[in-house]
Amino acid sequence: MAGGLAVTDLKRSFGDLRAVDGVDLHVPPGELIGFLGANGAGKTTTMRMILGILQPDTGEITWNGTPVDAEVRNRIGYMPQERGLYARMKVHEQVTYFGRLAGLESAVASERASYWIERLGLEERRDDLVQELSGGNQQRVQLAVSLVHDPELLVLDEPFAGLDPIAADTMREIVRERAADGAGVLLSSHQLNVVEGMCDRVVIVSEGREVAAGRPIDLRAAAPTRRMEVTWSEDVGHWRPIDGTVIEFTGTSAVVELPAQSDMSEQIGHAVAAGEVSMLSVEPPSLADIFADTITSAEVETAEVSE
Ligand code: ATP
Repeated sequence: MAGGLAVTDLKRSFGDLRAVDGVDLHVPPGELIGFLGANGAGKTTTMRMILGILQPDTGEITWNGTPVDAEVRNRIGYMPQERGLYARMKVHEQVTYFGRLAGLESAVASERASYWIERLGLEERRDDLVQELSGGNQQRVQLAVSLVHDPELLVLDEPFAGLDPIAADTMREIVRERAADGAGVLLSSHQLNVVEGMCDRVVIVSEGREVAAGRPIDLRAAAPTRRMEVTWSEDVGHWRPIDGTVIEFTGTSAVVELPAQSDMSEQIGHAVAAGEVSMLSVEPPSLADIFADTITSAEVETAEVSE
C-alpha cells in the first residue's frame, strides 16, 4: 500500500440523501490534491469523515496503510469550512493553545505560533481578540492553527473562500511550500480555476461520486476541443478555420474552437496564410470550462483519466 492518506469506497447518507457515495482518494506525502465539486457535492462530509468528526456508513480511511486513529489525527492540520476558533481568545494565545492541544510543549507552541502569525501577516493583531478581526484575517488565524504543529497532512476545506487576492497568494505559497517539505495536502474548492494551476492531481466529485480524477494537464489534454486565438496586424476580411466553430471574429481577430484531433500545423498555417499574424495561441480548455456543466449536472458519467 502506498504511503499517505488513502480513502477507499467511502459512503455516508443522511436519511435518504447519499451525501458521499463511493469516494476514493489518495494523498501521498508531498502531493497537493484538489478535491473539487459544486456546492453539496460531498467534499466537507468526506473531510469530516477523514477527521473522525463523522462516522462513515462504509469504506476505509488509512494513513500509511493503517486505520486513522486519534494519534494519527494529531498529525493532521485541519482547516474546517465553518471555522472553529474561540472568538474571545487572543490571536497568539489561540494558535499556541491549539499547538498545545496537538501535543507541543508550551514554549515550542508559543514559538511556532509567533512564526506563523508573522508569516501570515498578523503580527500587528497578535494580541487582538479573534472576534475583532475581519473574516479574512480570522481565516489566516485558522490556517495558522492548522499549521502550528507541523502536520504531515493538511486537510483544508475551502481555504481560499473569502480571501482577498494578496491573502489568497500567501495561502497558495504556504500550501505549496508545505507540500514541497513533504506534507500531503488535500484541499477542497468549487472554484476549479483557482486550484487547477497549483494541484498535482484533482478529484472532481458530483453528488457524492467521482466524475473525474487525474493530473489537470491530462484532464485538459483529454478534452475533445482546442481553443485557438488569432490576432492579425490588419483586417483579413472574411476568415474561417479549416474545420471547427467560430466563437468570435472581428476581422482582425478570431477565437475558434477546433476538434482536438485537428492537424494544428495546418490550422495555424491556414491562419497565417490569411494575413500577418501578431499573436496566436492554441490551448486545451481549462478545467473550469470542461467541468462547468459536468459538476452541476445531475446525470454525469464517470470519466477516469489515468495518471
Ligand atoms: P459546499 O461546496 O457547498 O461546501 P460540499 O461539497 O462540501 O458543498 P457537503 O457539505 O459535504 O457538500 O454536503 C453534501 C450533501 O450532504 C449536501 O446535500 C448537504 O445538504 C448534505 N449534508 C451535509 N451534512 C449534513 C447533515 N449533517 N445532515 C443532513 N444533510 C447533510
